[in-house]
Amino acid sequence: MTEQISANRELFDHVMVPNYSPSAVIPVRGQGSRVWDQNNNELIDFAGGIAVSCLGHCHPNLVNALKEQGEKIWHLSNVMTNEPALRLAKKLVDHTFAEKVYFANSGAESNEAALKLARRWALENFGEHKSQIIAFKQGFHGRTFFTVTVGGQAAYSDGFGPKPGDVVHAEYNDLESVKALISDNTCAVVMEPLQGEGGIVSPTDEFATGVRELCDQHNALLIYDEVQTGVGRTGDLYAYMGLNVTPDILTTAKALGGGFPIGAMLTTTEIAKHLKIGTHGSTYGGNPLACAVAEAAFDTVNDRAVLAGVKHREQLLKSGLDKINAKYQVFTQIRGKGLLIGAVLNDNYQGRAKEFLNAAMDEGLMSLVAGASIIRFTPSLVIPESDIAEGLARFERAVAKIVNG
Ligand SMILES: *Cc1c(COP(=O)(O)O)cnc(C)c1O
Repeated sequence: MTEQISANRELFDHVMVPNYSPSAVIPVRGQGSRVWDQNNNELIDFAGGIAVSCLGHCHPNLVNALKEQGEKIWHLSNVMTNEPALRLAKKLVDHTFAEKVYFANSGAESNEAALKLARRWALENFGEHKSQIIAFKQGFHGRTFFTVTVGGQAAYSDGFGPKPGDVVHAEYNDLESVKALISDNTCAVVMEPLQGEGGIVSPTDEFATGVRELCDQHNALLIYDEVQTGVGRTGDLYAYMGLNVTPDILTTAKALGGGFPIGAMLTTTEIAKHLKIGTHGSTYGGNPLACAVAEAAFDTVNDRAVLAGVKHREQLLKSGLDKINAKYQVFTQIRGKGLLIGAVLNDNYQGRAKEFLNAAMDEGLMSLVAGASIIRFTPSLVIPESDIAEGLARFERAVAKIVNG
């Protein structure tokens, strides 16, 4: 017999490792951009599970793909290949710069593969001296030890003993700081084509093209971490397409599975050949269930109307936030691209982003923060316009509450 357990927030503190501090609200179902909690309270979702649920909750295309594949075959391991993985890889290759794909289960793992590949590529082509990895302060690349070391936030990387070596950090949007570090010993430059966790910071065109040129001058690989920006988030299929810069390696996860865990590393044949048989791998990476769902998500998002819809929704959300700001004066800037939007709190509200998030939650709106002073919105790419309007109305009530004390 199954034991009956009352799954509430108190239980979290009893049975979970205390590395998270989740909300008291426990959602139990979702449909589109609406979510319902255990007490049947309804919420509008402007968080999208941190830029993951690109088609909202329970999109029929994803549910159908999951059910269909769920009744065929779930898992094989990479001792065998499978049809969904091959189909998804073919689509990724056909619609990007890439010629080869490696599947993982998360963003961090995709970046781990990218970094290891870059090191192999440099070692085999140039020798041991070429191992330096340049990344950026305030960058985020995941939580494995290599990826937190490459990410530019000591809060995440320190306190775990000796780190992987030869990783240095430049200033984002400061080409001179890259120039000061890069040399023929540089193996790769790793960057987000729009910093997400670090505060919704877009690169300038000069910076993006300048980094590409510096990599070319020093035979270094350019790795784009598109874990947050990829699969339509910025209004382009991948953000690099809107920057007119082509990376050598690209990582994608989050929205790739629309809520099912999957990640991928994309690259060229010439670079990929350095991950020879046995050099890297994953038990689950590229499993049929994940790839079937991701294929459906990719097909649905990679559509001109859907991508144009992202840009339209960006305007709706930004102009709505501008109006709220005109009334209450809480932000210095509304920034970001597509549906990766940050509202930067002004001097009067520094460090209080979490308060806004909590107040919004009380009004029935799920949102995110990016650091202590930026409220972040990453809703579904197909969120109905009426849900944007209702979500903004709820957010305005939350802002009013805070402003009026
Ligand atoms: C979320 C994120 C990651 C980490 O992805 P996980 O799936 O949590 O491992 C890596 N890079 C960027 C840019 C991200 O936003």
